[in-house]
Amino acid sequence: MEPAPKLTLNNGVHMDQMGFGTYKVPAPDAASLVVDALKTGYRHLDTAALYGNEEGVGEGLRTFTEGTNTVRDEIFLTSKVWNTDQGYDSTLRAFDASMSRLGLDVLDLYLIHWPCPERGLFVETYRAMEELYRGGRIRAIGVSNFQPDHLRTLLDAADVVPAVNQVELHPWLQQRELAALHEELGIRTVAWSPLGRGAVLADPVITSLAADLGVSPAQVILRWQMEQGNVAIPKASSPERMAENLDVFSFELSPAQRDAIAGLDRNQRSGSHPDTVN
Ligand code: NDP
Repeated sequence: MEPAPKLTLNNGVHMDQMGFGTYKVPAPDAASLVVDALKTGYRHLDTAALYGNEEGVGEGLRTFTEGTNTVRDEIFLTSKVWNTDQGYDSTLRAFDASMSRLGLDVLDLYLIHWPCPERGLFVETYRAMEELYRGGRIRAIGVSNFQPDHLRTLLDAADVVPAVNQVELHPWLQQRELAALHEELGIRTVAWSPLGRGAVLADPVITSLAADLGVSPAQVILRWQMEQGNVAIPKASSPERMAENLDVFSFELSPAQRDAIAGLDRNQRSGSHPDTVN
């Protein structure tokens, strides 16, 4: 399948609009699942130190590039610094540890996984990431789960505007205020749990739109994500689902169908609220 379209980040780096998420992918399965995702056409992978599968993700990436004409530069890889590693020196150490697990020299995107406001360390953490960025070890830096106030605090202190904010976003949690702020600041919105961890697939509005369009509920939601201008990183466990999730570029939602999805917003999270994670 054709890879997803590429979006340009605020520093000129390109990122596929549809990526493959690896949260809860068990370490022993990670390499083969990543190879399946890359064979399917994904060119953007999302992992994190927390997921415990960086070794497998790196191995899958290398196995795929060694066996095909695809080179490392064509694959966009994100990882994240975990909460307990926040702070200047500990972030530098955590980055080195992630890179050694991944078995790579350069990372495409490194994110602060959660702001952890009670720790009060995200500005220092970001300073370390700016240093790594300036040194060429990371092609873009950004944040995850940042609320508007966290972003403003960071921007007051930072030299580099984050390239992305990766946040929970799906039809039940549309994050319109945050997305508008991202637009104003030149930050890309990356949707985690773009399918609401699967729960939103059974929403009757989504299933009825899927029937009308002759596509699956997952395709309706992911098409909506693309039309909103979001990057989405769905996770799936089979090559069939991986292919289904990437195959959303040959149909469109009508304005009435987009309005129907807009009406599903109910501020319902599948994960934690960023103010409560520390
Ligand atoms: P998703 O919204 O991607 O949903 C994944 C679930 O949906 C799985 O149970 C999967 O089942 C199911 N699914 C996927 N495709 C289909 C399909 N076509 N039909 C039916 N069911 C389907 O949730 P995630 O929480 O995994 O989020 C995606 C990624 O976002 C993560 O993997 C991770 O990379 C990132 N993330 C980031 C966070 C952060 O704090 N920055 C927090 C959480 C996630 P199955 O696996 O059985 O195929």
